[in-house]
Amino acid sequence: MGIELSVLSGILGVIIGSFLNVVIYRVPQGKSIIFPGSHCPACGHNLRPWELVPVLSFLILRGRCAQCREKISWRYPLIEGLNGSLYFYAAWMNHSGSFLELGIHFYFISVLLVLAVIDWDTYRLPDVFTLPLLGVGIVAGFLLPQGPSGWESLATALGVGGVFWMITRLYPEGMGLGDIKLIAGLGAFLGFPEALIAVFIASFTGSIGGLIMLSFKKRSFREQIPFGPYLVLGGWSVFFWGQNILSFYNSLF
Ligand SMILES: [Zn+2]
Repeated sequence: MGIELSVLSGILGVIIGSFLNVVIYRVPQGKSIIFPGSHCPACGHNLRPWELVPVLSFLILRGRCAQCREKISWRYPLIEGLNGSLYFYAAWMNHSGSFLELGIHFYFISVLLVLAVIDWDTYRLPDVFTLPLLGVGIVAGFLLPQGPSGWESLATALGVGGVFWMITRLYPEGMGLGDIKLIAGLGAFLGFPEALIAVFIASFTGSIGGLIMLSFKKRSFREQIPFGPYLVLGGWSVFFWGQNILSFYNSLF
């Protein structure tokens, strides 16, 4: 799509990113994502409209609550900016001009972002996100002329999900059921062999990430290392650069 639509997509992504922050913060606690409105977690001060502008409010307030001056996490503008950048890129890379396809891609980007951060925080990949991801992936296969066909989506979700499910039966300490559902969802969206490459990238970056965190003592050796964020990294990489990764892989042989 053209530069105007891509920039508009980026702005939409930043606004939706602001909503994703609410989802990431409230869903694991079982709280409503609509009521009450956004407030400072430290002093309870209700945010006024000018304090709710994504990224800009954070910069204007220099990362502090307008009322109590408590620090606001830099994660909020980061998530907004990341979601916006990925929407921009997805629109820029979209050559079909199909808004249905673009909408489904926005969904794929955002649900993975939410899953990555929630898994990082809580070691959980809630079913309310992984199961719809799987469903939408399969439906998208049947609806969209681009990407894997519906049957390929279904077969990849079942095949790749099934294989890793069996692996967890043999090595239960490796992955959880949430990871398997996320892998099945990636299978539905990416098809074969792309989904397998995504899991390979996840394992590779996950081992490096685990070593880095151990060396910085961010997480102790006994502590679990969440796999979800790396699966998301692998999923996005293949989603955006799948063709390049495949041709690089083929050039090796
Ligand atoms: Zn406050």
